[in-house]
Amino acid sequence: MTHKELISCPSCLHKANLELLYQIRNTPVHQNVIYDAFDGAINCRRGELSLLYCHNCGIIFNSQFRSELLEYGEQYNNKQSVSEYFKSYLQDSVELLIQKYEIINKIIVDVGCGNGEFLELLSRKSHSKGIGFDPSYVGPSQTSNAHFISDYLTEKYSPLRADVLIFRHVLEHIDKPNQFLSTILKYLHIDGDCKIIIEVPDFDWIVEQGSYWDIFYEHVNYFSKQSLRNLLESIGLNVIDIFNQFNGQYMVAIASYEPCNISKNDVNIKFSTNCSMIEIFKRNIEKKNDEVGKIINQFEANSLFTIWGAAAKGVTFLNCLNSDIQKRIPFVIDINEAKHGKYCAGVGVKIMPPAILKQRMDVKNIIVMNPNYIQEIPVFLPKNNIFNLVSI
Ligand SMILES: [Zn+2]
Repeated sequence: MTHKELISCPSCLHKANLELLYQIRNTPVHQNVIYDAFDGAINCRRGELSLLYCHNCGIIFNSQFRSELLEYGEQYNNKQSVSEYFKSYLQDSVELLIQKYEIINKIIVDVGCGNGEFLELLSRKSHSKGIGFDPSYVGPSQTSNAHFISDYLTEKYSPLRADVLIFRHVLEHIDKPNQFLSTILKYLHIDGDCKIIIEVPDFDWIVEQGSYWDIFYEHVNYFSKQSLRNLLESIGLNVIDIFNQFNGQYMVAIASYEPCNISKNDVNIKFSTNCSMIEIFKRNIEKKNDEVGKIINQFEANSLFTIWGAAAKGVTFLNCLNSDIQKRIPFVIDINEAKHGKYCAGVGVKIMPPAILKQRMDVKNIIVMNPNYIQEIPVFLPKNNIFNLVSI
């Protein structure tokens, strides 16, 4: 039996038609875990990444993913909202959901609520009651509009009343998304219908950009709009809308679920896929790799430079660089205070606040990992110095 015959697609559950797309060997399993010491960072847990494309439903997934290697505990820090840009994106996102999908006075369950700020904001603005689940949640268990449980949502919380069910940046971390969604739906007590809101990165954006640093171990699945629709319809959800957010990097699906109208036997999906995307992806990541090489070559020979953003993109990018280039990066910059003085997984580069640039006059070139933040970066830079900000 070959390797591929052992694997079935985690989304449509078919066993054939899987094509190898991309591989990274021995890669850090966590990008958003920060380390107190250099040794801990370079000796971090590692895993294999082999992306397969399912020709049946279009999902892309890491066939060598092992969920037991990951720990979403308190060292997991993916807080983005220290950025003003990110804060306003959350606000706009909440306003849109309330107005367009009439989320007012509801019971909102947020599975994988992270630090809870999205649920808190949505519950408050929509006069709703929120219940958030996340094992990495640290904070008060009760706020004025939401209740938080530092745990996975399991059967012990069932039946759980829900009018709105949210999965923001969750499905890309789950190795069996089909089974996961179907199981969660069974825990719910739904009166009439339930709106389901799912936000994930858009793989089409990664393909278009060739941003190979958006592919990392924490994300086991990569969805296009079509493959996400295929998954949701295959478990009996009625997809109302799928649209982009965050300048195209993320997409949001809105679906409705009416348990009394669903019989899984009636669900007969004709999947549609776009396999030309595979070739474009391969071409664009090679092109992007060349572009990055050219950008670094334009910096003064052997000069030091830095990276802005010590989250998943920055950590993955650092780990993809060859060791001669890595040696030219004395630190990586992030505005999240919780990361300062800590070390990035794999390469072990130290994370520093922007103020480090006042002392390190030898660092003038800054590669910005997320183009969405480039406008706000100059505010953090020391005055009277000239920096070269490059978005990749
Ligand atoms: Zn599939």
